[in-house]
Amino acid sequence: MTVDKVRQLAHRDEASLVQFLRDIVSIPSFSSQEEKVVRRIAAEMQKVGFDEVRFDDVGNVIGRVGNGPVKIMFDNHIDTVGVGDPGAWGGRDPFDAQLKDGKVWGRGVVDEKAAMASTVYAGKLIKELGLGERCTVWVVGSAMEEDCDGLSLLHLIQKEGIKPDYVVLGEPTDLDVYRGHRGRVEMTVTTKGLSAHAAHCHKGINPLYKMAPIVLDIEKLNERLAVDDFLGKGTITVSFMEVKTPSLNSVPDTAKIFLDRRLTAGETMELALEQIRGLPSFRDATVEVLRHEAKAWTGKDVAQEKYFPTWVLPEDHDLVQAAVEAVELARGSRPRVSRWVFSTNGVATMGRLGIPTIGFAPGLEELAHTTREYIEVRDLVTAVVGAALLPRKLADRLAKKA
Ligand SMILES: [Zn+2]
Repeated sequence: MTVDKVRQLAHRDEASLVQFLRDIVSIPSFSSQEEKVVRRIAAEMQKVGFDEVRFDDVGNVIGRVGNGPVKIMFDNHIDTVGVGDPGAWGGRDPFDAQLKDGKVWGRGVVDEKAAMASTVYAGKLIKELGLGERCTVWVVGSAMEEDCDGLSLLHLIQKEGIKPDYVVLGEPTDLDVYRGHRGRVEMTVTTKGLSAHAAHCHKGINPLYKMAPIVLDIEKLNERLAVDDFLGKGTITVSFMEVKTPSLNSVPDTAKIFLDRRLTAGETMELALEQIRGLPSFRDATVEVLRHEAKAWTGKDVAQEKYFPTWVLPEDHDLVQAAVEAVELARGSRPRVSRWVFSTNGVATMGRLGIPTIGFAPGLEELAHTTREYIEVRDLVTAVVGAALLPRKLADRLAKKA
């Protein structure tokens, strides 16, 4: 099998690939509202010849090609963030999915509908050319990632009997190969006081006065958090605060701050909680990890603590190296091996479950969630070629070692 043949067939399919991408960008799919888009994706998977297509309980769509022993999952979350201020889109409709000057524009095109479209068409070529004969390839359109990364994929793997040995994420890498990112834990710190009339404030206990030194200690904590050469620095910031008070003429009775803690290599939720408990001013206070609760489009209630573990796959791992080989053939140049700044569904696959995970997709990470999201059609086609070659490259490497 020559790469030229794969590239030739990817170019043959370019018009349907671009039309499919424009179709799924034009269907709004905010978190928990993905039903229409996953149905459109399922129809395309059926049309291009996937062996099996189905939905799961939390609204993911799963397509399968092949039945071999090397099990690879291409995961693409297909929910998007909102559009924000409609006036900020420069007169464009975020769901118009325009094709202009070789680029497709619109909400979610980078994050990550282009990866969805390219992996469906990679699945088509894998089947057509027999590139996955020793592989089972799942292509997943996963739900609800933007509100709680990892949740729907954790469900798919733990509850739906789909057990990949390797995962490739469709978060934007600009056609490079990524192998990790910082984790995150979202926490609250609460202080309690005693309400009193503001005119008799000496009779009350103000919880804000207990909280103020904690906030300043958190500012100092941020400066001494660990640094990792590959992932960057651990950080913490106060992101919100809430006060409960009977009126504006009262001493409040409860103060609560919300913390976003980014975890670098070696940092865990337990460590982050210990650091808060160890602050000099943390005496009469409590710290808790936040919970995320939502309802999937299928009607199923889902919930999870907001802990998203840090993960890194070693650079010499077979999955990283197979991806580098496949992508080099697809691009005609060697990809960088790097990491994301933001978080992904890898917090579930590699972070919680230890399944080797990487990222490979078109698009620029810094365009995600902006009004300037676009994908170059040329990159979309290269992504098809890279993803189509990857299972074969991986199976070859594993066979050589066996
Ligand atoms: Zn994303």
